Amino acid sequence: MSDDFEINGQHPPRGSRLIVDFPLPPLTSNSALHMPIHIIRGKRPGPRLLVCAALHGDEIGGIEIIRRLVSHPAIRRIRGDFIAVPIVNVYGFIHHSRYLPDRRDLNRCFPGSEKGPIASRLANLFLNEVVTKCSHGIDLHTAAIHRENLPQIRACLNEPATRDMAEAFPVPVLLDASLRPGTIREAAGKLGIPWLVYEAGEALRFDEVSIRVGVRGVIQVMREIGMLAKRQTKRPHVPQTANKSYWVRAPQSGVYRNLMPMGAHVGKEDLIGIVSDPYGKNEAQVFAPSSGVIIGRTNLPLVYEGDALCHIALFKDAGEVAGVIEDFQSRFGVESDEGVYDNEFDSPIL
Ligand SMILES: [Zn+2]
Repeated sequence: MSDDFEINGQHPPRGSRLIVDFPLPPLTSNSALHMPIHIIRGKRPGPRLLVCAALHGDEIGGIEIIRRLVSHPAIRRIRGDFIAVPIVNVYGFIHHSRYLPDRRDLNRCFPGSEKGPIASRLANLFLNEVVTKCSHGIDLHTAAIHRENLPQIRACLNEPATRDMAEAFPVPVLLDASLRPGTIREAAGKLGIPWLVYEAGEALRFDEVSIRVGVRGVIQVMREIGMLAKRQTKRPHVPQTANKSYWVRAPQSGVYRNLMPMGAHVGKEDLIGIVSDPYGKNEAQVFAPSSGVIIGRTNLPLVYEGDALCHIALFKDAGEVAGVIEDFQSRFGVESDEGVYDNEFDSPIL
């Protein structure tokens, strides 16, 4: 990787900090559209970490994570470069939508092409103009609309550099997730760029715990890859790896009452919720098909038969994971003292 960084015809020197407004095809009204890119170049050379958010335009949690990161005091001391793109899918963001105007999912269109539909063009542009110029990447997501995720990292954990980054992130759960075709993670993997997907919280909402963990996680990754000095931690966290996960689906249409909190450890055949009609009749109980930990769930109680209710991850020792999640919740919960004025966090809780 060359130490020179060229973007939109500019070559920001070492030690500089700027926002590049990368031009995109305008709106149908002919209003100009840009993708703002933060470029923060440390005085000394080192890795070039890309953090991007809102590839799904309604997954706005990462925008707040990046806002906190770019004003974080530690960023002033980095080696290498921090490239942050708060809104990749600007078109979807404007409409509070996951998708692009052509109803395609940007994160299924990589590597894209110059001559394809708009989603494919945007994917191609982002990949060539930004991703290929970076040495490491973290893509910030939330659950889809009306769903919520326990903070988790999804990555190819059999790749050592990726695994090191993943283990530095203070989430309770790592998912050794297989690659979905067309995702930016797949495209980055083909380029040999170690890549994490951080999934936490829900679309169109700011979840304070998810945001704090995201900020802390990116800073910890910077320490891991040598952009910041490593620190001795008093309580090293031990993330648990799930090799498999699945969604429990609604057995019938109706109103869903969820009975399990996020992060709960469920045993095989445990009751996790009930679907009934809106009048309290025709109840169908929903049981956990196997033991595991709840890492995602629906927040919308109105469900059709087959709708996803609850995302369960499978672990070798789910009991141990329950302890890790409890520790995580007490460390990062809004009630906890950690993070309020912790020097890792520049923003107090409002
Ligand atoms: Zn997403």
